[in-house]
Order: sequence, then C-alpha cells, then structure tokens
Amino acid sequence: MKKVVKDTRAHLTFSTMDLFAGPKLLDFKNSPPHLQFNKYVLTGYRPISTYRDCLRSLFYLHNEFGNIYTHGSVFYHLFMNHEGGAPIYDTLLCFDMVGVCLVNTLGALPIIYITLLCYPSSRRVAMLAYLLLSGYGVHCAVTARSNVHRLQSFAWQAFFRFLLFMLRLTGTGRGSPGSLRLYFTMDALALLGGLVNISRLPERFSPGRFDYWLNSHQIMHIMVILSILYLHWGMLEDLTWLKVHHCPGE
Ligand SMILES: [Zn+2]
Repeated sequence: MKKVVKDTRAHLTFSTMDLFAGPKLLDFKNSPPHLQFNKYVLTGYRPISTYRDCLRSLFYLHNEFGNIYTHGSVFYHLFMNHEGGAPIYDTLLCFDMVGVCLVNTLGALPIIYITLLCYPSSRRVAMLAYLLLSGYGVHCAVTARSNVHRLQSFAWQAFFRFLLFMLRLTGTGRGSPGSLRLYFTMDALALLGGLVNISRLPERFSPGRFDYWLNSHQIMHIMVILSILYLHWGMLEDLTWLKVHHCPGE
C-alpha cells in the first residue's frame, strides 16, 4: 500500500515538471515565417503546436507569455503558433482587431450619449455616425497589411472622440467637468501605446534584450489596460453627474 502512494507521487511530480518545462524554443530565423513580425525579438519562439500544446504554453516561459497574461486578446497570442499556420494566424488577428474595435465602439457610445444629452436629434445622428465609422474601422483593420495601417484604422474613431471632447471643453457638450481630463488621458494612453507598438521600442535599440519581458507589444498592452481604467473612471464621474443633471426646459 505504502509503495503505491509513493509511486503516484513520483508520477505527479514528473507530469508537473513536464508541464512547466515546455518544448525547445526557437530563435527568430528558425521560427514559423508568419510569426517573424518583430525582427528585434530574437529568441523564445514556440514551435508549431497542436491546440493542446498551445494551451500548455500558459505554464512555461516563452516570448508570448507576457502578452498572454497582460491582455484580453488571449486567443491571438496563445494560438498564433497553431499547426494550422498562416490562415489560423490571420483569422486570430482578425478577431483581435474586431475586439479592439468593439472596445473603441462600446466605450465611446455612452460618452457620445452624455456629451449630446440635451440635443436628442444630434445625439442619434452622432451615435449612428460613430457606429458607421466603427464598421469602416473594422474593415480597415482586418484588411490592413502592416501595424502602421492597423493603427491608422482607428484614427477616425479617435478624431470623432476628439470632436466630442472639444464640444465639452467649449461648454456646448454636457458631462461632468471632471471626466474630460480622464477621457483625454484615456485616448493619450491608447495612442501612445499604439505608437510604442509600431516603433518597436525599446527592443529596437537592444535586439534580444526584451524578448521575454517589457518589449513594445507588452508595453502597449499595459497602456491599453490603463486606458480602459481611465474610461471606467471617467464614466463613473459622468454617471454620478447624470443623476443630478437636467437639460434646460426639462
Ligand atoms: Zn496583443
């Protein structure tokens, strides 16, 4: 009896070690061609894998590990080395872009609603216009050929939000006076994150040094999380304001 218990424990120890060890990682030149999108990340590439092995990569260190754990676009980063190759990769990237567009759209609609609270017809037109811009943004983002074009896809939405902020700044738009600062910070962080991502900073200056931690894509992820937090704080201010505000003539 005693012997069986001992054996089971030995087996358990072995499988746990197996889980954390992971496969032999590849360098840039030997990595799958569709994963060679950042030439400043030199090592830590996972080999082509099955679904199961992709999932296993949640438990050992590789160059997408930080990206998986710092973001909502988990599927893109987790399964980008799936054995389906480039077609699977492209589909995952599309889903990732649609996700970014959804956050941009659902996050902005309440801002539009509150800014144009006292102008019902303009409000409806603005919300519809923003939805159409979002659709156009998704189309551009999923057909974009480079990171730069992908970032540009979100420019019209950002410009629209900027116009809303200007309306608030000039007193024409409504909303809590405190929230505007938070929304500006939100967009500044998102833009800065996008710029860091396309400029490949800091790894451009020291290729290989940021393969696992703190490369441009991870910094962008962190800035996007912060940006969403600022949206949340701004919206809390606006919702508190909304409870006590009345439009003229109400
Ligand atoms: Zn990402």
